[in-house]
This record gives sequence, structure tokens and C-alpha cells, in this order.
Amino acid sequence: MLADVVTEIETLYDPAWAESWDAVGLVCGDPGRTVRKILFAVDPVAAVVDEALEYGADLLVTHHPLYLRGTTSVAATTFKGRVVHRLIRNDVALYTAHTNADVADPGVSDALARAVGLTGELRPLLPAADDPRRGLGRVGTLPSPVPLREFAERAASGLPRTAGPLRVAGDPGREVATVAVSGGAGDSLLGAARASGADVFLTADLRHHPASEFVEAGEGPALIDASHWATEWPWLADAAERLTSALAAKGINVEARVSRIVTDAWTSTTP
Ligand SMILES: [Zn+2]
Repeated sequence: MLADVVTEIETLYDPAWAESWDAVGLVCGDPGRTVRKILFAVDPVAAVVDEALEYGADLLVTHHPLYLRGTTSVAATTFKGRVVHRLIRNDVALYTAHTNADVADPGVSDALARAVGLTGELRPLLPAADDPRRGLGRVGTLPSPVPLREFAERAASGLPRTAGPLRVAGDPGREVATVAVSGGAGDSLLGAARASGADVFLTADLRHHPASEFVEAGEGPALIDASHWATEWPWLADAAERLTSALAAKGINVEARVSRIVTDAWTSTTP
């Protein structure tokens, strides 16, 4: 039943860990319905709903919330309302694990760290106040130091392809041994990245002023800016594996698929 699946998701990603502004948990779905197929995706957008229906999913688990702020209408007059209508009409539940998945151990940034080549132990970049084993971002060490240029190339090949390349700020020849990463928009972790002593900080959505001021201040890590979707996507397979294993241990067998639809807003770049 959906209720059992939700219990297992919330054992892995406790909703109590979410930021106060966040909106996580079950968005729609009947807790008594049977779940056989689960689709994991970053965003609850129309193309992902298409995939959920084509796959025959009973549950769609997304990282980003459909409604982050309060709403008084789910009428099918907006794209969000149409998502809700299509999901309910086709008996597909929607569940969101957002900042609670970011700070979980392991969470979103663990999967990102593995994708860009960190093989050893990882620690949170910004530990959670109530449990320093959890927290935002991760810091780890490469098996052997490499020039920034090479690390960036490896990161690009470890992450899924999106419309744009990775953007790098720093001397391409700079040696990189310690790496800080944060899935999603990592502006707020620039200070923590500097304090961590990392040689490079890889995240998404870095804006001009925070990035420029960070670089100008000097003595900090190099920066790598990736697409938002690409930095969070690696977590989906990890979450799918953990959830299906936890359910199988309870005698509940479900099939899971990870969506490969790139849901970044950006769809192309100029040559
Ligand atoms: Zn995100």
C-alpha cells in the first residue's frame, strides 16, 4: 500500500529534517492504494507526468515540490493544476522529498559527490545543528590530486548531459585534492566551502555577484557551476535503490524507474 511506501521513504528522508519553508511529503494519492511501480524524477512537470503515465507508475517521487507556497486552487487552469488533475485521474500518487533528502545521510550531495569521482569518506559541508552526521553539501578527497582542468572534465563525464557545459572559475592548472559539492543552488554555501579548505566547490545556479565577489576575495576554492538538474539527478538512482531494498526487506516488491528527462529550464546553447 502507498502508506507502507510512504513510511519507508520517511524512514530514509525524515520530513522533520526539511527546512521550515519547504513543502515535503505526500501531495496527492490514496494511502490505501497498491503501489507496484514508482518513477523517480527531479521535477513534477508535464513531461515527467507523461512518463509516469506511460510507465504505468502508481507513485511519482520528485525532489522538487509541486507547490512550495500555499495555494487555494488546484484547478486545471494552471500547469500545476493540470499536473494534479492528470495524476489523480490516473491514480498516480505524488510524493516530494526535498531539503530532507538534501540533509539525509546519505542524501542528494552524497550521490553528487560519487558522480564526480569522490570515492572516500564524505562529511557534511554545513552540518545539521541537531546531528552533525547529516547536513547540507559534502566534502571529500579525490583518490589522487589532479589539475582543476582534469577534475572538471571528469565531473562533466560523471554527470548526466544537459544543454550546457560546466562553467569553471579558477586556474585550470590548480591542483585539486579536496572537493566540496552541493546539489542544487549552492550560493548560500560559498562561505562554508571557503571555510572547509576545499580546493574546488561544485554546485549549481551560481549567480554573478556572489561568484564574482567570492573569486575576488581570493584564497578560496575554485568554482564549478553545473546545471541544477544534473547535480540532483544522481540522487534519484540512490533513493530508488534504497527504497526498493527497504521495501523488499518488508516483503513488498515494487519496480522503480529513474526518469532521464532533463527538466532544466535551459534547452540549448549557442555554439
Ligand atoms: Zn533543487
